[in-house]
Amino acid sequence: MIAASPYTLTVMQRIAHSINGELVEPHSGAYLDNVEPATGQVYSHVPDGDAADVQAAVDAASKAFARWAATPPQQRSQVMLRIADLIDRDLEKLARAETIDNGKPLNLSRSVDIPRAASNMRFFATAILHGHSESHATQLSNMRALNYTLRQPVGVAGAISPWNLPLYLFTWKIAPALATGNTVVAKPSELTPMTAYLFSELCIEAGLPKGVLNVVHGTGPKVGAAIVSHADIPIITFTGGTATGATIAREAGPMFKKLALELGGKNPNIVFADCDYDKAVATSVRAAFANQGQICLAGSRVFVERPIFDEFVNEFAQRARELRVGDPLDEASHQGAVVSHDHMEKVLGCIEQARDDGGRIVCGGERVHVESARCKDGYFIQPTVITGLEPNSRTNLQEIFGPVVTITPFDDEHEVVEWANATPYGLSATVWTENLNRAHTVAERLQTGTVWINCWLLRDLRVPFGGVKQSGVGREGGEEAMRFFTEPKNVCVAFE
Ligand code: NAD
Repeated sequence: MIAASPYTLTVMQRIAHSINGELVEPHSGAYLDNVEPATGQVYSHVPDGDAADVQAAVDAASKAFARWAATPPQQRSQVMLRIADLIDRDLEKLARAETIDNGKPLNLSRSVDIPRAASNMRFFATAILHGHSESHATQLSNMRALNYTLRQPVGVAGAISPWNLPLYLFTWKIAPALATGNTVVAKPSELTPMTAYLFSELCIEAGLPKGVLNVVHGTGPKVGAAIVSHADIPIITFTGGTATGATIAREAGPMFKKLALELGGKNPNIVFADCDYDKAVATSVRAAFANQGQICLAGSRVFVERPIFDEFVNEFAQRARELRVGDPLDEASHQGAVVSHDHMEKVLGCIEQARDDGGRIVCGGERVHVESARCKDGYFIQPTVITGLEPNSRTNLQEIFGPVVTITPFDDEHEVVEWANATPYGLSATVWTENLNRAHTVAERLQTGTVWINCWLLRDLRVPFGGVKQSGVGREGGEEAMRFFTEPKNVCVAFE
């Protein structure tokens, strides 16, 4: 838990809300500690926002809506492109901020998280210039008509995002909402608020009109819940845990809000014996441990066809041991810290549970005490490989969201597809095979929103992105996001 800090703050940086184009203090004056995961030390303070701050943000967003919605797409596009340029300008500053806040390696923040935030802005800034709508020529026995569809912004959008890919996912929600003419009240995770704050500064610098984007910081139960239950926010986009998604759906459902929920995953990574072996091993290690395994799309359940099982496990574990766990600001580190002390304890608890269930820890399994004065109290965990568990064991069903992977042998295609589908989740899957027929038939039978064949996390921002079952409701990405953030209105014009 993060403790509230009522004491006077003099040295450490205070993050501010961004409401109506101004950086402002929380209404209550209360702040939360913001901890650097690599050191375990408080390094800044984040507003402990509440319903009063959300109300101020909704007021500003409501007031700004009509003008922003009526702003020509070209102008909305231009200001969003300016924001993207400012993200590029501040790449290094934002990447360091992300790494300090989250614990992820600087190389990753610099090459993936921050560039992707700029891409999100550019993608939707230009998508609205090329959008199209539908029209239908109607012919009845005695009348003709032209039906066409207007796609209009919904209103004030609520956007709530998680800590694992902070600026990347924050902008993934905000960009399509703004591009299509909505105004936004957004809440980043209270564990990783820094880059959302820096982003809000860049939006002001870029000249985004007042009230169009409002960023309110604070906890889920206070700020998040106030956004979800606010009567003047008709549309909510949420990315986070499945349990939180269920809470949000319970609140928003009876209010008939438009809802997109991007939730947890427990993704199968299926390796057939006929695969390109070197590529499969190397990519599977990355899929398991990138970002300390804290990616919703992580390939955390590896299934390997029996003829290559022993060889695969040995090589996979060897590569896992070679991953250097260390200070995320050190360019030589492959793995940084997990996001918080609570999360580290949760992940270590899951490893204990796997041991209790008869799992064999092939490598890892322990906390790492990094040998540097700066990081001696940081939240580091060894990349951990576990075998010997049943496909339906707790470890294979629950999302762990840490550097922990299980590897299980299988004997035939039918069996492995059944096991792959046997969790409550359905976000993504990866299949390794050189057999084209098998690739297509297995892809067809997997119950997930995305299937990668012979690759992992190869993202094209135009494709539909989301999950089935308890991995979510609705889709993000490209046209899907543009549709979500607009209401289609049919206009029927009769003529003789
Ligand atoms: P979380 O659900 O704890 O928090 C996500 C956000 O929701 C945070 O901003 C939090 O403050 C807020 N929140 C918490 N309780 C709330 C409530 N009652 N009402 C409104 N908002 C509330 O998730 P997390 O721990 O930050 O993120 C990890 C989870 O996110 C994992 O399960 C992961 O799989 C999932 N995730 C999914 C995707 C995807 O695209 N499907 C992407 C990234 C992460």
